[in-house]
Amino acid sequence: MKKSLIGKNLDEFSDLCIELGLENFRSKQLFNWMYRNEVNDLTELKNLPKSLIEDLKIGHCIHPLELINSTNSSSEKTNKFLFKTQSGALIESVLMNEKNRVTLCISTQVGCALDCKFCATAKMGFKENLSVGEILDQYLLARQKINKPITNIVFMGMGEPFLNYKNVIKAAKLLNDPNGINMGSKRITISTAGVISKIEEFTKSKEKFKLAISLNGTTNEQRTSIMPINIKNSLDELLNVARRYTETVNRWLTFEYVLLKEINDSVEDAKRLLSMLAGMKKCKLNIIPYNETDGEFRRPDKDQIENFVIALRPAKFPITVRWSKGTDIDAGCGQLATRNQV
Ligand code: SF4
Repeated sequence: MKKSLIGKNLDEFSDLCIELGLENFRSKQLFNWMYRNEVNDLTELKNLPKSLIEDLKIGHCIHPLELINSTNSSSEKTNKFLFKTQSGALIESVLMNEKNRVTLCISTQVGCALDCKFCATAKMGFKENLSVGEILDQYLLARQKINKPITNIVFMGMGEPFLNYKNVIKAAKLLNDPNGINMGSKRITISTAGVISKIEEFTKSKEKFKLAISLNGTTNEQRTSIMPINIKNSLDELLNVARRYTETVNRWLTFEYVLLKEINDSVEDAKRLLSMLAGMKKCKLNIIPYNETDGEFRRPDKDQIENFVIALRPAKFPITVRWSKGTDIDAGCGQLATRNQV
């Protein structure tokens, strides 16, 4: 299997130059070709000597992914991309267009070990972590395909990003690198189901990317029934670590709450949410009425959603209701995967 150049940072390109016996200035050229000029073939690296290109061709390729298919949603402005990794696994990303904002939701693992009961990816189980290149290449190949700038990235596709922490942070740093892709850190969001040790690590290292936490429950019992991660990462501890995050980094934290019919959609749940998040510095709540698939879970009726939102009105924190985009192409949160798996 050839090593991909996408995914390497400048230090790694320097190491590669040493390995190939080249002057160090070549590392910057390679970095620029990958992340600024976005080439697809080694022969396009025009300012590099032919002998270097021949050496590179022996063990390296540019893209670690192959774009297999892309689908447009007819009802909403959504595109879904299916990629194949070098190991033959299939992964997906979803692009959502909203006025001037073009957001790509990217995957970080093949499958997922966390087994959230409402999630299609969970049914695959965990297969493997994606490499830095495989994470980043979803962005680069999608951008080429749609031919317009992608303004925001969310790490919220297949997999739990904080269980592939090192690669996810490195990919986010490469997206943010001012000498490369140069996407602002406020436009990059990492979404976790609540891996407490990694939220602590993220807080301590003062990473400047945005953080979102999938809450989805207002009692331990209820949350555990749909998110088994809650057994070892309880709601109280999660809220404590979230509070410490907002106080330490002084950045907005988003709580995601997928609304599931007769599971977590009662007015009592809304009232509990109010008291759980009261006093939390700089937090937002994002209510996401569930995007129905073939499984056992249902989206609450419109009246119930309305009652839930009305009960949240006294909140001192901002609340948004996000209707999942791309329901006709299975592109809602936690709903990527499996249908195309081989
Ligand atoms: S919702 Fe996210 S964390 Fe939970 S099983 Fe699905 S992919 Fe994993």
